[in-house]
Amino acid sequence: MVKQTIQIFARVKPPVRKHQQGIYSVDEDEKLIPSLEIILPRDLADGFVNNKRESYKFKFQRIFDQDANQETIFENIAKPVAGSVLAGYNGTIFAYGQTGSGKTFTITGGAERYSDRGIIPRTLSYIFEQLQKDSSKIYTTHISYLEIYNECGYDLLDPRHEASSLEDLPKVTVLEDPDQNIHLKNLTLHQATTEEEALNLLFLGDTNRMIAETPMNQASTRSHCIFTIHLSSKEPGSATVRHAKLHLVDLAGSERVAKTGVGGHLLTEAKYINLSLHYLEQVIIALSEKHRSHIPYRNSMMTSVLRDSLGGNCMTTMIATLSLEKRNLDESISTCRFAQRVALIKNEAVLNEEIDPRLVIKRLQKEIQELKDELAMVTGEQRTEALTEAELLQLEKLITSFLEDQDPESRLEVGTDMRKVHHCFHHLKKLLNDKKILENNTVSSESKDQDCREPLKEEEYRKLRDILKQRDNEINILVNMLKKEKKKAQEALHLAGMDRREFRHSQSPPFRLGNPEEGQRMRLSSAPSQAQDFSILGKRSSLLHKKIGMREEMSLGRQEAFEIFKRDHADSVTIDDNKQILKQRFSEAKALGESINEARSKIGYHDRRGFKEGLGLLRDGDMSIMCRDGGQQHDKHPLRDSTQPRWTTKRNVEARRLQFSPAFLHSFLGSAVPAYFVFSCFYLVVQNFNI
Ligand code: ADP
Ligand code: MG
Repeated sequence: MVKQTIQIFARVKPPVRKHQQGIYSVDEDEKLIPSLEIILPRDLADGFVNNKRESYKFKFQRIFDQDANQETIFENIAKPVAGSVLAGYNGTIFAYGQTGSGKTFTITGGAERYSDRGIIPRTLSYIFEQLQKDSSKIYTTHISYLEIYNECGYDLLDPRHEASSLEDLPKVTVLEDPDQNIHLKNLTLHQATTEEEALNLLFLGDTNRMIAETPMNQASTRSHCIFTIHLSSKEPGSATVRHAKLHLVDLAGSERVAKTGVGGHLLTEAKYINLSLHYLEQVIIALSEKHRSHIPYRNSMMTSVLRDSLGGNCMTTMIATLSLEKRNLDESISTCRFAQRVALIKNEAVLNEEIDPRLVIKRLQKEIQELKDELAMVTGEQRTEALTEAELLQLEKLITSFLEDQDPESRLEVGTDMRKVHHCFHHLKKLLNDKKILENNTVSSESKDQDCREPLKEEEYRKLRDILKQRDNEINILVNMLKKEKKKAQEALHLAGMDRREFRHSQSPPFRLGNPEEGQRMRLSSAPSQAQDFSILGKRSSLLHKKIGMREEMSLGRQEAFEIFKRDHADSVTIDDNKQILKQRFSEAKALGESINEARSKIGYHDRRGFKEGLGLLRDGDMSIMCRDGGQQHDKHPLRDSTQPRWTTKRNVEARRLQFSPAFLHSFLGSAVPAYFVFSCFYLVVQNFNI
């Protein structure tokens, strides 16, 4: 680290007109610290009694008077700074002074003669000369050229500069990283491998330089220009790289606005110039004061860019350019005062060394290879980067058995091969992550289920409860119905049993519907008891009909359920068989009915014949005798007891007529036979289903 105050030098510009004597004097011998004395001539306008100070003395590292040429300036001011830059330190040389005092001439040089070359071309020449001389290091040089005009930064080396106007170019902006290092966005760095390339860049920048004419100096600029040489150096084979920057700064004129006598646009420019220089002065005052914690670098772009140069990691030099003519004395004094303050600023320049990551990688790769070779020699086996399939499989087996081992002191032994150790860790991590994911999924699905259940509680649950209630009611109704059916079936069975007994008693030979021949042999004398049976059957048929009707009234769902129930019932085959038998018996009953019809027609025939024969005898219309005897007793005297009241006889006649009338037979065949069939069906169902 090199601690150093900012070096200040004064350069007096040769006068345009004949120099006025007694304005300033340079004292070179004053204990090796030269001083510049500026003497203000007494102005008669201020009166004879005038207490105004007449001389001002300013100390500088060195004062270069009018006759100092560019070479001297370079050798004494720029060369030491360039040397520091080559050593790896940052350096800054800036020229400060009023417009026309020779800043540009000092920094860049005059265009007329080669010997008028300023600090920039001479420094470039010197640096490239040194680079060529020094073969112990590898150097890289880059150039950037920044112009700050009205607080905006422009890249003077932007190739679009010629084609586009200043406003259309991308502005250079100042960026600050967390370590408070300044970075300039949109400022290009151009590599220059030779002095010529670097000079071409300088000429290009100068061509692009913003120039605005002022009444004071036709060639002066109102912009600040910073020409920077970026130098990187490293020793061959070393990863350490040194970076150094040399800023060569040509500031805008430091004159006061009032003196320019301009307005409008140019006045605005002057304001900005003075404002940025004012901020520069503030920074310098802040730096020169002890115990100042805050330095207002950020107030202007110029102070931000030159942050390192002012009170930072830089070896900085200031050249105060003076145009010591009578009319410029105030400005010259102002410049010298500024320089005095600058001289108080202490900088701490350090070597900017850093490790190049690419070089580090290369070095490490080399080291790894060497170690691998060494390991292969020691272990006798050549290790590849990745583990083989067999090795991976073996490791996974080891991990599994380790995890399953209940012994708390069990160990996972994979040896000293770090690849295997890392693989084990990765595998365990994967297992752990998989488990976590699984748990998360389970939790999320559970929470989803809960989410789904929530609305169920509200709406679906109520619906389901209603449905359940409805089903309960239905079941109750069905159970009741079944009970009733069972009861009725039992009654019907009981009645049927009674009927059968009665039937057997009253009939000889027993009457069976299943045998039509027997039906044909049925005697007319047995007809009343048979008619009684039929009337009972008729009652029962209406009962059964009600039941069938009930079934018809059943909903489709229930009917379907009943059908499935029947189909799946263990005795379904028997039921079907019984149904077939019933059908057969039905047809038999039908045939029997037909034979009865035949018999009836025969009776009708004899009836009619008897009627004709006994018409005269039976005028009161007692048809019962004729009907009962079938025309065979018509020759007998009427059976009627003459003493029997007439109404009784008539009633019996009506009853007998009803029993054997065609209408009765018809209704009997229409209702009794199907009733018998239905009854039998129901009986079979009750028997089969054990209701
Ligand atoms: P500034 O940049 O400060 O406004 P310049 O460098 O443009 O001033 O100088 C103004 C004029 O003075 C230029 O024509 C330049 O050639 C001339 N000049 C400045 N300093 C010297 C010097 N030391 N020797 C010869 N001519 C100079
Ligand atoms: Mg200039």
